[in-house]
Amino acid sequence: MKRDELHMSTRAVHPESHQRRTNRPVAFPIYLSATFEAADVDEQIRLEEESDTFYTRYGNPTLSAVEQAVARLEGTESALVFGSGMSAITTTLLAFLEKGDHVVFQREIYGGTFRFARELLPRFGVEVSWVDCTDLDGMQRAIRDNTRVLYLESPTNPTLRVVDLDAVAEVARSRGVKTLIDSTFATPFNSRPGDHGIDGVLHSTTKYFGGHSDLLGGALAGSREIVEQVKSYLKVLGGVMDPHAAYLLLRGIKTLGVRVDRQNRSGLAIAQAFEGQVGVRRVFYPMLSSHPQHELAERQMQGGGGVVSLELEGTLEAAKRFVNRLQLFHVAPSLGGVESLVSNPRLTSHAMLSPEEREQTGIRDSLVRLALGIEDTDDLIADIKRALAESD
Ligand SMILES: *Cc1c(COP(=O)(O)O)cnc(C)c1O
Repeated sequence: MKRDELHMSTRAVHPESHQRRTNRPVAFPIYLSATFEAADVDEQIRLEEESDTFYTRYGNPTLSAVEQAVARLEGTESALVFGSGMSAITTTLLAFLEKGDHVVFQREIYGGTFRFARELLPRFGVEVSWVDCTDLDGMQRAIRDNTRVLYLESPTNPTLRVVDLDAVAEVARSRGVKTLIDSTFATPFNSRPGDHGIDGVLHSTTKYFGGHSDLLGGALAGSREIVEQVKSYLKVLGGVMDPHAAYLLLRGIKTLGVRVDRQNRSGLAIAQAFEGQVGVRRVFYPMLSSHPQHELAERQMQGGGGVVSLELEGTLEAAKRFVNRLQLFHVAPSLGGVESLVSNPRLTSHAMLSPEEREQTGIRDSLVRLALGIEDTDDLIADIKRALAESD
């Protein structure tokens, strides 16, 4: 069978089958070693330049295996893993920016990225502008002569707005601006930004890729050139992934397709079941026909993903009580794992926004974010139904 003809979920389970050898372990081993021995000094010099067996901050075979798997799934030439999603994001941005540069960020981005852009980048002399992620004209106007990067995230947290990747990539390319996207919420099974011309695809692999809430990690997928440039900074900044985490990540990736498939189905079923129900003012989910960018989502995404946000009737207090009444959803940050989690964005991920900023991004007090796991869909629906129905 030709590898290129295999489906993504098959390739996720057979990440390194091109290097067939007999008697090799089926599960890629953990190279739990900080350093690697060379035959002699000349070989050591060569290893430093071009191998994953020199020193683990420079590379490690277990990290290479997971990088290969990520690149295959994103359909890019290359990939690089990091110790966390934030390490992937900050190392990548630092690799492409210097004093006097300008970056355009979409307004709705992950909280840690928001703080990095608002508080840290200006300290290094980098100017930052903010645009609405659906406002293409605004993006075009925000690009200046010194703009180096257009930074995106899709779908957004927690209101699941979708960025038109083809259109944005074209705008940026015509102005010589690099595009980076945080694609954590999409996963390559729902959207592959590289196929739309986005230059660098970032992930918190802590979420769907890992899938079991037991590791922290990040990844960048892109051309060899981009990945090599960022890697040279990673070696200095030091936010590398631990080989243990890389092993767990490889294991998680093998079931990514199956998990996302279940999460897509549950997401759509739950969104449909609670739209228009008593106690629910609004449901946010890309594949609902009421979603403002439903058509774009249908065109660009294979599925809506495992996050559904419900804006409830009533106050913040009522939303808190609803969350506390859920039994199958852990009250915890994060998403993309096998177990369902729930949060009140107003009190957690978006607490640091001003009331105006929250209003602008549609985060009302009574918004509840459900991050679905792989439990039975009907059980999840029953749990939500019961928590809604129980009177305060
Ligand atoms: C969690 C998350 C991050 C940060 O990743 P860590 O692995 O926690 O550092 C970045 N972006 C998005 C969209 C996330 O959900």
